[in-house]
Amino acid sequence: MSEPALGVADRLQVVIREIAEAASSAGRDPRSVRLVAVTKTVAPERIREAYDAGARMFGENYVQEALGKVDRLPRDAEWHMIGHLQTNKAKRATEIFPTIETLDRPSLAAAIEKAARTRAVRVDVLIQVNVAGEGAKSGATPELALGLTQRAMEWPHLRFRGLMVIPPYCTDAERTRPHFRALRELRDSLTKLAPPGVELTELSMGMSHDFAVAVEEGATLVRIGTAIFGERNT
Ligand SMILES: *Cc1c(COP(=O)(O)O)cnc(C)c1O
Repeated sequence: MSEPALGVADRLQVVIREIAEAASSAGRDPRSVRLVAVTKTVAPERIREAYDAGARMFGENYVQEALGKVDRLPRDAEWHMIGHLQTNKAKRATEIFPTIETLDRPSLAAAIEKAARTRAVRVDVLIQVNVAGEGAKSGATPELALGLTQRAMEWPHLRFRGLMVIPPYCTDAERTRPHFRALRELRDSLTKLAPPGVELTELSMGMSHDFAVAVEEGATLVRIGTAIFGERNT
């Protein structure tokens, strides 16, 4: 594999500029969009390059993989769980991730609650929603997302912060736009039906090839790996 022409720091700056441009062109404050640098399969030294260049939020897909990385960055790095989370890994996850973006079922909420209560911490959660209907592997249906939101008080150590989506992959970002829009509309609907005190402000959507469109549709968190670290060769 050949090294990409630009280093991690340069690529990060390009991505940050493109996020800001997409926000501005949509009439949004660029500061309302935050970057989660997705570090799956990326070596700790290269993650450190991103940190040194200013990245502070990092996303990992597996608890086990994240374990070997979190201690190698300063404490102000904030790690997000963005992969499917098995219930029996919830305890470990709460030790590493202040934010879990992939809550998709009540049994997982209960497992995170139990672990967070034991550690006397609160965990920020996003509900991962499958807005595409059948086909997508994971994510709650919109109905289940509503159910989870309305039951928020049953899990006092979870702080429901918003929604997350992984749309079916498509190279044409315009074809993904309806999924992003659907997530925003669902967020707006759930906000009206949520118990008092539950504020669903975050929309985690957009990856390397489609984040500009996601930002136009209201993303507050974009999860970007390839555009910063190069192609993954797993
Ligand atoms: C890998 C991954 C990303 C980043 O994808 P890129 O195309 O490399 O930017 C974002 N979100 C999730 C859930 C992922 O698994």
